[in-house]
Amino acid sequence: MATRRRKESCVFCKIVGGKETTVPLYQDDEIIVFNDIRPASTYHFLVCPTDHIRDASRLNRSHVPLVEKMVAISKRLLEERDADFSRARLGFHWPPFHLVAHLHLHVICPPGNIGYLSRVIFWPNSFWFVTIDWLLERLKNMPDEPSSPLTSHDSAQVTSPKASQKKGQELDNTQQGTACDTELLQGTVGRTVNTDTDTT
Ligand SMILES: [Zn+2]
Ligand SMILES: [Zn+2]
Repeated sequence: MATRRRKESCVFCKIVGGKETTVPLYQDDEIIVFNDIRPASTYHFLVCPTDHIRDASRLNRSHVPLVEKMVAISKRLLEERDADFSRARLGFHWPPFHLVAHLHLHVICPPGNIGYLSRVIFWPNSFWFVTIDWLLERLKNMPDEPSSPLTSHDSAQVTSPKASQKKGQELDNTQQGTACDTELLQGTVGRTVNTDTDTT
């Protein structure tokens, strides 16, 4: 079994590691599911990879099976609760519009119960929230192999669903100083940066 990537300061990694009181609804080697602490509807799950992946923009074609599995588990969990999966709203935040920088799929059902603010936050294919279909299409259109794992991880293209329609309009990193980035940077300053070799 491959060693899982964890980030010490990440609350979702702590949940994966059993260091929080959160009781998972589902957990296996690759995926963990738990309830959103501020549910937007009757059912509101967060489906996360157990690996620390920062957000949906970091995914590539090799993650298609993972994303499909996240959807399949969501479907199963809703069906076990007699909820109608076909009506559920599923999607990912698109950076920089996320509060927790660990990839998570929001599964909200039924969408009719979603309150006004949440309706804005989880608006499908907005600048800040993308659907499974949009993401899978993006991933499947990517080249098979990223040029280099390091490069693809550190300088993943950040384009919004709408911005991506305009080619040649890539934003450079200096324009993306966001609350989330700042938070992430602060989390690493003053502590030893974790590397894969640091397993003790
Ligand atoms: Zn994490
Ligand atoms: Zn979220």
